[in-house]
Amino acid sequence: MVDRIADPWGARTPYPRGGDWPVRVDENVEGPVDRWVQSACGLCSHGCALDIGVHDGKIVGVRGRDVDRVNHGRLGPKGLYGWHANNAEDRLLRPLVRRGDVLQEATWDEAMDLVAERSRESLATKGSGALGFYTTGQLFIEDYYTLALIARGGIGTNHLDGNTRLCTATAGQALKETFGCDGQPNGVHDIEYCDTILHVGINTAETQTVLWMHELDRLRGPDPPRSIVIDPRETESAREAQVHLAIRPGTNLAALNGLAHELIEDDRIDRAFVDLHTIGFDALEKTVSSYTPERVAEICDVEADDVRRAAEIIGEAEHLLTFVLQGVYQSHQATASACAANNINLLRGMIGKPGSGILQMNGQPTAQNTRETGCNGDLPGFRNWQNEAHVADLARLWNVEPMQIPHWGPPTHAMEIFRYAERGSIEFLWVIGTNPAVSLPDLGRIRSILSQEGLFLVVSDAFLSETARLADVVLPAALWGEKTGTFTNTDRTVHLSERAVEPPGDVRSDMEIFLDYARRLGLHDKDGQPLVKWTTPEECFAAWKECTRGRPCDYTGLSYDKLRGGSGIQWPCNNEAPGGTERLYQNLTFPTFAEVCEDFGHDVQTGATFSEAEFKALGSEGRAILKAAKWTPPHEWARDEYPFALITGRTVFHFHTRTKTGRTPELEAAAPDAWVELCPEDAERLGISQGELVRVSSPRGSVEVTARVTGPRQGVVFVPFHYGYWDVGDDAGPDGRPRAANELTMTIWDPVSKQPQLKTAAVKVEKVA
Ligand code: SF4
Repeated sequence: MVDRIADPWGARTPYPRGGDWPVRVDENVEGPVDRWVQSACGLCSHGCALDIGVHDGKIVGVRGRDVDRVNHGRLGPKGLYGWHANNAEDRLLRPLVRRGDVLQEATWDEAMDLVAERSRESLATKGSGALGFYTTGQLFIEDYYTLALIARGGIGTNHLDGNTRLCTATAGQALKETFGCDGQPNGVHDIEYCDTILHVGINTAETQTVLWMHELDRLRGPDPPRSIVIDPRETESAREAQVHLAIRPGTNLAALNGLAHELIEDDRIDRAFVDLHTIGFDALEKTVSSYTPERVAEICDVEADDVRRAAEIIGEAEHLLTFVLQGVYQSHQATASACAANNINLLRGMIGKPGSGILQMNGQPTAQNTRETGCNGDLPGFRNWQNEAHVADLARLWNVEPMQIPHWGPPTHAMEIFRYAERGSIEFLWVIGTNPAVSLPDLGRIRSILSQEGLFLVVSDAFLSETARLADVVLPAALWGEKTGTFTNTDRTVHLSERAVEPPGDVRSDMEIFLDYARRLGLHDKDGQPLVKWTTPEECFAAWKECTRGRPCDYTGLSYDKLRGGSGIQWPCNNEAPGGTERLYQNLTFPTFAEVCEDFGHDVQTGATFSEAEFKALGSEGRAILKAAKWTPPHEWARDEYPFALITGRTVFHFHTRTKTGRTPELEAAAPDAWVELCPEDAERLGISQGELVRVSSPRGSVEVTARVTGPRQGVVFVPFHYGYWDVGDDAGPDGRPRAANELTMTIWDPVSKQPQLKTAAVKVEKVA
C-alpha cells in the first residue's frame, strides 16, 4: 500500500462529467483475518463504509467497501489507521468513582447507584432543570434516541445538547431557516454532475478526505468543474480553484452578499424559479444592493475583480454545487452566512437537480443523528417544539403526557448548559463521549466550571480524557467496533455498524449504560410501564423508525437486514422511496408549511425567534425562504494590541481532541504537537522562522507552539484545535506550556444557531526568547 500519511488522498482515478466514480478499494490490515464485519468509519462526517478485520477477538485492520455509494471502497488516513485506538493500552476498563481527590476503580453497581442517587436528589430538591446532559456527535442512533427519551420524556429536562453545537448546529439551523427543515438537499454523487463548485469555509481535503478524492478525480478528468473557494487559508482546495477569495475572518456574509449583488445586478438569476419557488427576494435585493465588488473588497480585503470573476463563474454555471462548513459555522454571523450561501443556489434556481444544490456539511460522523433524534436542541424526528401537534404526537409515541416533554421554550443549547452549571442551577451534568475541557471556548472558564464543588460531574468515555479527570464518576464506554448500531452521514446515508469484537474489561455500550440508568431511576410511562421499552439496538431502531414515520427524515423503509451486505441507503426511505432518496426537493416543494416545518425560523440578523403567527404571515407554503442580513463587524476585530485574527481548525491526521487519533501511532507521528501557521510576510516582520517556538495570546490566555510559515493570508494565524494535555507531562499543562487552541477563544455564540464563534478571536504573536 502507498504511504497514506505521505499521500493522504492516494492515487487518482479520474472520470468524466456524468460518469461513474471508479471503485478503488483501500485497506490496511496488519496480520491474518478470521472474519470481516460490516461497519463504517466514525472519524468524520463522510461515514465511509468499511469492513473490520478481526483476528483472535481483536481488530487487526479495515477494508473499504466497494459496493458503498459514499466511498466506492476508499478510505482516508484516519479511516485506515484510526482503529488502533480500540487496542490502546490505556483504555478505561472499569468505572471510576472519586473518593477524596482520587478517582478509584469501582463496580458498575457502585458507580451507577451513585449516579442514580445524585440524579434523584437533584430531581427531588431542585427539579428536572437541575440535570443537564452534554453529548457528542459520535454515538449511534440507538444510543441517542434512548438518551433523548430518558432526558426529555423521562426526567423532563430541557438541558440536553450535543457537542454538535460546536460543529454543525449552524448547518441544521440554516437548512431550517431556508427550507423549513434540516436534511441535506443533495448527495455526494452530485459531484459527478456539477460544472461548478462553490466552497465556502470548507477545507475538503483535510476535513472530508474521501470527499476530496471524489472531487479531485473530477478535477483530473475530462470536463472538470470550475471551483471557487472562500477561505482565509491557502488550502489544497484553494490551490485548485479558479478564484480563491482569501477573505478576512469574520467577513463571510459580506462576500456572499457581494456575490448575490453581482448575480442580481447582471441579471444572472432564474427569475421564474425565484418567483415560483421562493419568498423574500425583494428584501434580499434591498439588503445586498450596497454590496458592490468595491465595498466587498474593502470589507473582506480582497480584489474587487476577484469578486466579479467569482460571480461571473457562478452566473455561468449550469449545475452549481455549494459546500459549506465550519469556516462559516464557527465564524461571525454564522447562520446568516450559511443562509446567504443557500441564497446563491436559490437565486440561480439550482437545487433539486443532478449536480445542482447544497451540502451544508457536517463535521462529526453522527452529527446528523444528534439533530434527528433530539439530542442537539430539537425534538426527535425533526419535530418543532413550538408546534403543539408535534409535541402531542411525540407524547403519544412515548406514552407520556405532552407536558412531560419540555417545550415551554427552546431546548437549552450547550453554551447555556455550561452557564447554568457555572451559576449552580444545573448541579448534575453528564458528559457523554466528548471532551469540553479541550473543545469548548475559553478553557480557563470551562475548567473552573467542570471542577467546581457544587457540580456533580459524570463522564462516559473510553479514555481518561482531560474532562474525565475532573469527574466525580467515570463510566467506561464501548468504542466503535465494540457495539452494534446505525448512523447517518452528512448526505443522509444510513449505515449499519456491527459489533466486531467484545469490549475490553467491564466496558459497556452507551445504550446499555442509559438503559441501566433508566431502570435505576424507575422511569415509567403514563401507564406505569417502563418508559424505555427496548433492550437491544435493533428493537430501538424499530422504535426510532416509528418516530420518523411521515416526517422528512423517514426511516420506515429501512431495517438492519436491508442495511446488511450492500450499500448504505439515504433517507427518506419508505414505501414511496424503498431504495432511499438521492436528493431532496426534486419536485421543488419545500417543507415550509407551518404544520410540517421543524422551526418557525428567526430574523437571521438579530436572532429573534418567529412565532407560529409570524411564520404563517410570511406565506412560504412550500416555497424556500430567502433570508438576508447585513454584514456587521465581528465582536473581536484584530486591533492594536492584538493585531492578528485567529482561526482554529483541523488537520487531516487528527479528529477532535485526539482521544482516538492521538492513540494511533501513524497519525500521532504525522502530527504529534500543536503549531501555529502564519504567512511569510508576517513571520519575517516578527523575526520568526519555521519551527521556532512562538507565543500566541488573546485577552483570555495564551499558547506556546511552534511556527509553520505557510498558508494563511496576512494578518491571520491558524492553530489546530486538537491538542490538549492528556499526553504531556505536568510541566506542559495549561500552567506550563499551554497548547490548547481554546485557551484563546471567547465565550460568544451565533444569535440564531447558538454555535460558539471559534474563528474570530484577536491575538498577538511573539517569538519566545
Ligand atoms: S473521509 Fe472521514 S469517514 Fe472517510 S475514512 Fe476518512 S475520516 Fe473516515
